[in-house]
Amino acid sequence: MIHVTCLGAAGTVTGSNYLVEDSRGNKILVDCGLFQGSREMEKRNWMDWDFDPREIEALLLTHAHLDHSGRIPKLVKDGFQGKIMTSPPTVELCQIMLLDSAHIQEMDAEWQSRKNHRQGKKGIAPLYDTEDAQKSIQLLTPVERDRVVTLASGIKFRLRNAGHILGSSLIEVWITDADREVKLVFSGDLGKQDQLIVRDPHEVIDADFLFVESTYGNRLHRSFPESKAEMLEAIQYALSNNEKVIIPAFAMERTQEILYLLAEFSREGLLPDIPVYLDSPLAIKATEIFRKNEQYYDEDAQAILDQGIDPLGMPNLTFTPSTEESIAINEKPGSAIVIAASGMCTAGRIKHHLKHNLWRPGASIIIAGFQAQGTTGRKIVDGEKFVKVFREDVAVKAKVYTIGGFSAHADQAGLLEWVGNFAPSNPRVFLVHGEPTSAQILGQKIEEQFHLETHIPTWKETLTLNLKEPMQKSTIVEAMPADTDQTMLHSLAAIEGELTRLRKSIEGGGTGTTERRLEQLRSVEEALRSLS
Ligand SMILES: [Zn+2]
Ligand SMILES: [Zn+2]
Repeated sequence: MIHVTCLGAAGTVTGSNYLVEDSRGNKILVDCGLFQGSREMEKRNWMDWDFDPREIEALLLTHAHLDHSGRIPKLVKDGFQGKIMTSPPTVELCQIMLLDSAHIQEMDAEWQSRKNHRQGKKGIAPLYDTEDAQKSIQLLTPVERDRVVTLASGIKFRLRNAGHILGSSLIEVWITDADREVKLVFSGDLGKQDQLIVRDPHEVIDADFLFVESTYGNRLHRSFPESKAEMLEAIQYALSNNEKVIIPAFAMERTQEILYLLAEFSREGLLPDIPVYLDSPLAIKATEIFRKNEQYYDEDAQAILDQGIDPLGMPNLTFTPSTEESIAINEKPGSAIVIAASGMCTAGRIKHHLKHNLWRPGASIIIAGFQAQGTTGRKIVDGEKFVKVFREDVAVKAKVYTIGGFSAHADQAGLLEWVGNFAPSNPRVFLVHGEPTSAQILGQKIEEQFHLETHIPTWKETLTLNLKEPMQKSTIVEAMPADTDQTMLHSLAAIEGELTRLRKSIEGGGTGTTERRLEQLRSVEEALRSLS
């Protein structure tokens, strides 16, 4: 029998990690990501593995985002010696991401240790260090997409384009069990149709067991032209007040998408003549990797390249890798556009820009990415009047633009369309990588529209993949009452969160439109229905 244990991104969006075991005891992993968000969630990064890392044959990696790759150096530190198999651009992006992450871990440990010492306590070691990251980089093995690879154990896999970020893959896995070849598909993070720069996700049509992400399982994205208009409005707003536009962005993909769009505005004469700063050493390096991997760009980006134009370039763009250059941005008065990481405002230079600009009426903040619960970015989106930046309460007086159309994830319609392709092969569907409300709502839609069996795995749940017997939902529920309660509690927390957001939006704290409030209300209603 084949077993899959969901060791991350189960009932939440971070920490992606699946242990796949065949009947002969061969073990592989799919993804090995960091848990991110609340302190409670991040504690999971420090826990012991539920397997022996030395026994893992290979790690198949969907993409370079840290919530999928960020625990790799810990895995290597704890004895993993297999290959990390992933697409060539992911290898390049992971080289910079893992070293950057190790640096952050070292700084965090140093800060915590100093604090501990002042309290007469012992210092702490980092989760992993630069040396662990370097060892991990040695194990990265580029694998071309669309080619079936057979591991020594006989387990086969193939990477397919997931259309989420440069180099991102969804993974097909074939395992022979009791003389039959069983096919598993892991969606990884699935991009949306017509996303900038990357090509559309590969349409797979068959699987026995499908693990699909559900980040936006309960949402529809706003249309992209609308998002472009909002982006221009945000720039105009700050420009008319002679203030800055601050854009927190993930170093990979979101940053390049924003550059792509600003470059388009520039070519069309829509971008005002103000400086644009890319103020993140990591995002600068990532942008250079994008430029080296133009062969992975989609048709639109290729067409721009064919005219001899860099799709990510514009005349007023300045890269500011050094700290001095970064500090100088805030010392210079006047309007400017500043793109900085991290995307959820929890670390990096964006915190300095928020400290300098969040309290300034007239400035604009563009939130163009998913903000996990507990992060500073989420608090800003939720319309909180003050947020903590460097342990200081900073008033939110700048105008906050939450622009949904930029998502690098498929929305509910996109996910349903992609899952629908599988319907004739009648797979069992596991909903992962989503907060409970999203996963539940997407699950209901999949059952209604395609009559497929669905299940939302709980954290650490081991699934027995048995084709002969139907997925016995009730058995799972009876066997794990505590986890069911846990799911219920998660759902209640999610509903509570939605209601708080709605209340704040109605009170006028945020920038919510009536449409957005109705959308929030609908998702609360759907969540309540799913509980009863
Ligand atoms: Zn991702
Ligand atoms: Zn993800």
